[in-house]
Amino acid sequence: MAASAQIGVTGLAVMGRNLARNFARNGYTVAVHNRTPARTRALVEEFGHEGAFVPAESLQDFVAALERPRRLLIMVKAGGPTDEVIGEFAPLLEAGDMIIDGGNAHFLDTRRREQGLRELGIHFVGSGVSGGEEGALHGPSIMPGGSAESYAVLGPMLEKISAHVDGDPCCTHIGTDGAGHFVKMVHNGIEYADMQLIAEAYQLLREVGGYAPAEIAEIFRRWNKGRLSSYLIEITAEVLAHTDADTGKPFVDIVQDAAEQKGTGRWTVQTALDLGSPVTAIAQATFARVASSRAQLRAAYRGLPGGTDQELRRHEAERFTEQVEQALYASKVIAYDQGWTMIRDGAAEYGWDIDLGAVARIWRGGCIIRAAFLDRIRAAHAADPGLASLLAEDTFAAELADAQVPWREVVAVAAHRGIPVPAFSASLAFYDTLRSAHLPAALIQGLRDFFGAHTYHRTDRPGSYHTHWAEPG
Ligand code: NAP
Repeated sequence: MAASAQIGVTGLAVMGRNLARNFARNGYTVAVHNRTPARTRALVEEFGHEGAFVPAESLQDFVAALERPRRLLIMVKAGGPTDEVIGEFAPLLEAGDMIIDGGNAHFLDTRRREQGLRELGIHFVGSGVSGGEEGALHGPSIMPGGSAESYAVLGPMLEKISAHVDGDPCCTHIGTDGAGHFVKMVHNGIEYADMQLIAEAYQLLREVGGYAPAEIAEIFRRWNKGRLSSYLIEITAEVLAHTDADTGKPFVDIVQDAAEQKGTGRWTVQTALDLGSPVTAIAQATFARVASSRAQLRAAYRGLPGGTDQELRRHEAERFTEQVEQALYASKVIAYDQGWTMIRDGAAEYGWDIDLGAVARIWRGGCIIRAAFLDRIRAAHAADPGLASLLAEDTFAAELADAQVPWREVVAVAAHRGIPVPAFSASLAFYDTLRSAHLPAALIQGLRDFFGAHTYHRTDRPGSYHTHWAEPG
């Protein structure tokens, strides 16, 4: 077989198939392969007219179809299957060839795989891909790691098939080895927080504001025209406006209230604990999903006394809606700031040179958390590459200063009413923790010194101190 394909895609389920079509639609010749050949045939039968595909049923034919240096994109089930597929293809490749893993791999697996393949002279590019099935076809946000050398060859192709915003591709070289998958993991963690915050806003509008789902859909549509404008807010309006065809009830009322997860939020929280990154909103969002699914625990707590349930009058509900918008926006800024802090911490730990403004730039389109305000995060980092926090930037700081009173009122109303708002309140607590001049951490240091002689630092002189405590009588 003559080597004519600029890229090969193996793994032709929803993501791989659509990425292969995206490459072909952009003028590339794409070799396609799948463990079960029926998928390869189906792709060519259904979409062969969209561009140049070279179907291959054997690993050897697939590799032989690729121009050198070979670019081989793996889109198979994450975990063991990815290792199996790498193990099958690596012996067929040569120094200088590239294996790209576009699956949702854990960044530590990506580091391990990159190191193993580097010893064979093969470039391994762990690449985050966000945007789901539709994004894969029409332009995802792509977060490639791996060597700068591999990006020089591969980057232009990935940039071409990625989403574009204001003419800029939603793809950039994130950093070496596992940097791309690390950033994709944090993206998903932020996505968890964003969705939880939206869900809390919905519940408050429904139970305190007294609005029906269709009315809340209208509120989200209005919010989507302002500073909250984002894909998630847009689809929230769609889901809330949707009526179940069988029962005529609002769709949200016929869905079981137990949120599932595939694990990237959990990875974000586990990694954050290792790095010491305080991603409290992401953690609360992840725990909220877990708690919602604990049926037995919920049954044991159900029926315990809650808060008051005073109804709001219409004009009060309108005012409350504005307060919820402020609380949602402020909490969202905190959640995103926590995500960026974690990326900075990961970069320091693993020696990656990550451009934090570029991360915001490539998330403006294609991915699930695409949002208007990411352009402001991009601009804030462009203006000050050493920016320690979004709240160190004047306009974000001013917005949170404006929002803080309504934010507190919303969290207080939720507490009075017994409505759980774990992500709203974690974000507010984080804001208050970091802005406080004095934290009770001093008392914790005292306790640690009392029971464990762990020592403490004094406020008035340098050095470590230990007090000889008398045991309580
Ligand atoms: P998937 O359901 O995760 O995986 C199915 C594909 O993996 C099929 O092509 C299957 O081949 C292949 N496969 C499984 N085990 C294999 C093995 N041992 N050897 C060779 N091939 C094997 O597919 P997906 O939803 O398209 O996702 C692909 C990757 O993208 C995953 O890592 C996923 O986490 C990631 N991702 C998914 C999304 C999304 O929205 N779905 C978004 C971003 C990233 P057969 O047809 O032979 O079974």
